[in-house]
This record gives sequence, structure tokens and C-alpha cells, in this order.
Amino acid sequence: MTTLEKVRQRAESDAKTYGYYLNPDPDFLQDLLEGLRKNEERYGYPSCPCRLANGNLELDRDIICPCDYRDPDVAEFGTCYCALYMRKDLYEGKTPITPIPERRPVEKQARAYTAITSTTPTATLEKTETKPQQTQTPSTVKKKLWYCKQCGYVIFREDPPYVCPICKAKREMFAEIKTGITIQG
Ligand code: SF4
Repeated sequence: MTTLEKVRQRAESDAKTYGYYLNPDPDFLQDLLEGLRKNEERYGYPSCPCRLANGNLELDRDIICPCDYRDPDVAEFGTCYCALYMRKDLYEGKTPITPIPERRPVEKQARAYTAITSTTPTATLEKTETKPQQTQTPSTVKKKLWYCKQCGYVIFREDPPYVCPICKAKREMFAEIKTGITIQG
């Protein structure tokens, strides 16, 4: 079983190798590392904690941390999409951390969404659910609508994400939207 410490050491070692720094906010960092640990436990590989994984190694290969998009994102924006890895100037607070656009191709994102609209294996139960209500596959997991109080991003899943993929707010910034409508998960 992968421990949080092992995930941390791996990230630290990787950051050192590439001349990057890990996010200096200890709580934020802890959330991301815990997300990686949980994904590794769930899928067998540490898929990105800010993105929707497919649960299929071949389809998720590009978002196994460190993902294929980290280096170009750090080069262009100073951080990776999740803001786990960053350049020195951002780490030192000389340059502000800002939300960055998703570099992962839309078709790859769509495939992950499509996977959860078909049969819902146990491994996918905690993934973001985006399919229309009337076509959802019943499962025993209760999913809810969550919104990010910081940027308004809305997501449908069992629990709020570890980190908002849009504004990087922490999980605590998510609140449930109570619609009064029952949505079958
Ligand atoms: S965006 Fe950052 S945390 Fe997410 S997989 Fe890429 S390198 Fe890892």
C-alpha cells in the first residue's frame, strides 16, 4: 500500500530532478499528495488529483503524475495544472499563482467522461459524473452537486474534489448545492 510519505518523497525527488519546487502551502500540498495517494490506491497508478481519470491505464497514461503537461505548463505559466510543481519565482512568492488553462486535449477529457456514462464499475464510482440525468447508470453511490465558493465551478460527484481544477481552491471551499431534486448516482 502506498503511504502518503512515499508519495511525498516521490514528488520531492522528482521536483529536485527537474529543478522545480513543490507548492509551499502545507495544507494545499497535503491535499494534493493525499489525492495522488488515493488515486494510486484506487487505480493502481497516481493519476492527477485535479482531473477526471478513466480507470484504464492506457487512457490515463498522460495524466499519471507527473503528467505529460507538467513541463510545458511550468515553462509557460510557472506551475503545473494542479499547482503541485512550480518554478522558483512562484514558490518564493515573487510571481503570483494564477489559474491556468487545461492543456489536456478535449478528446482525452471526453473519453474519461464517456467511460463513466457507460457501465459503472466499482473503480469509477467516485469519478465526476457529467452525463444527463435520464441516462445515468444506477449505482449505490450517492453523488451530489458541489460548487466552488471561490470561482463557481460546479461538479457532480460523491465528494468534492481535493482541489478546484479551475481556481485551485481547497476542498473546504466546496459546498453542496441542495436542489431538492433526487439525482440517482
Ligand atoms: S497537473 Fe501537476 S499534480 Fe496533476 S498530474 Fe500533472 S504534474 Fe501531477
